This record gives sequence, C-alpha cells and structure tokens, in this order.
Amino acid sequence: MLIIANWKMNPLDIKNALRLLNFYKKLKYKDLWVAPPYVYLPILIKRFKNFTFGAQNIHYEKSGAYTGEISAYMIKKIGCKFVIINHSERRKMGETLEIANLKIKQALKNNLISVVCFGEQKKIDDLKKLKNIWNREFNILFKDIKNFKKIILAYEPSWAISTQKMGPVPKEIVKDFLEWIKNKINSQIKILYGGSVFPENIENYLDLNINGFLIGSQSLKPKNFKIIINKIKNVV
Ligand code: PEP
Repeated sequence: MLIIANWKMNPLDIKNALRLLNFYKKLKYKDLWVAPPYVYLPILIKRFKNFTFGAQNIHYEKSGAYTGEISAYMIKKIGCKFVIINHSERRKMGETLEIANLKIKQALKNNLISVVCFGEQKKIDDLKKLKNIWNREFNILFKDIKNFKKIILAYEPSWAISTQKMGPVPKEIVKDFLEWIKNKINSQIKILYGGSVFPENIENYLDLNINGFLIGSQSLKPKNFKIIINKIKNVV
C-alpha cells in the first residue's frame, strides 16, 4: 500500500526534517512517499535516496512573472517524482478547480505524478447530492485529460481533514466513492483515502479496495505514525 506523508508547513527547521526522515527510514516501509516543504526538498532528496519525494504545490506555468511561485519543471529538475494538487488547504487559500486542472496539465507535461485531492467541501449525507458534487468536480479537474496513468486520486473531503475535527469519512461513504469512481473512469487509477487517518481508525479502512493513504498530521508524530505503518504492514 502506498503511504504519502503530507508534512504541510512543518517541521520548523531542517534539523527536525532530517530527524523525521531518519525515523521514517527505521520503519523500513518501502512504499512511503514524502511531501515536505519546498525548502527541505534538495537536501532530503540528496540524503535519502530510497525515498520518493514530491512537492505540496506547483504553479500552472513553467516560468515567468509569478512572484513566490515554483514550477513543475523546477521541482522535477531537483528530483521530485510527484506533486499534490487541489489540496483542500490550497482551495481555502482561493485555488479553484480550474486552476488545479491547469496544474495537473503542467505536472503531466513535466512527467510528474499528480496526487489529486478530491472530494466534497461540506459534510453531505445524501448520496445523490454527493454524486452530483463529485461529477462536477471531476469534470472540471480532469477537463481535457484522457490519460490517468500519471494521476493518483486521493479521496479526501475538506471537512474530513483532521484540523476540522469532523473526520474521518464513514467507511460506507468511502465505499460509495469507490463504486462511483470505478464507473467514472474506465482506465486503472490508483485511489488513496485521506482525512483524519489515526492509529485508532486506520484498521477500519484496511479492507477497502484502495491503494493507500494520504496522511497529514499523524505523519509528523513518530509514535503514532509507527503504529499506523505497522498496522498497514500487517495486511500487506
Ligand atoms: C492532508 O493534509 O492531506 C491530510 C489528510 O491531513 P490529516 O491527515 O491531518 O487529516
């Protein structure tokens, strides 16, 4: 199972970033990808050859007058293999689905894997309404994209992110999502679950037909992360 650790804007310095990676190394889990803040990427990529690294964001253009931005081309050049796109925390900062679509296209142009976060922004119980939201989101995010080989979809509704204290998503809804996506895309696509994955609930999701997890807060807590990884190891 693929585990992607999204460090968000943490840890505060390179010393702690190295400490966390050294801890990850001891877990000996081979399918662990890490998305640290940009500034740590060159050092971590150089020192930890056995890990797959990616960025938490890119701009949708290759270069130009975009103060403060980083392009897909740049992160590819330093050795990143993937980028997270459409994360709900970016959407809260004003990023739209249309912008995310351009970013996916830019990632594809640069041969990067797009880990595309997906899902409703509000908690909704009505499956018909949910499917309408998913359809709309899918159609905008993947407009003009035909090949899903370099796309990983992370079902991670905004409301289920741990900071919202409302997650995780009930297993039944994740199942509905998996059913819906299977009908939506004919081609094979990797699906992750994300949103409030904790040591206490990970087991609940291990028998689902998913390819792994996108983990935020708990990837920064060594003890908890180890428990999560060990529980996953027991089933793979
Ligand atoms: C995330 O930020 O992608 C995430 C899933 O966060 P958390 O695990 O903290 O809910």
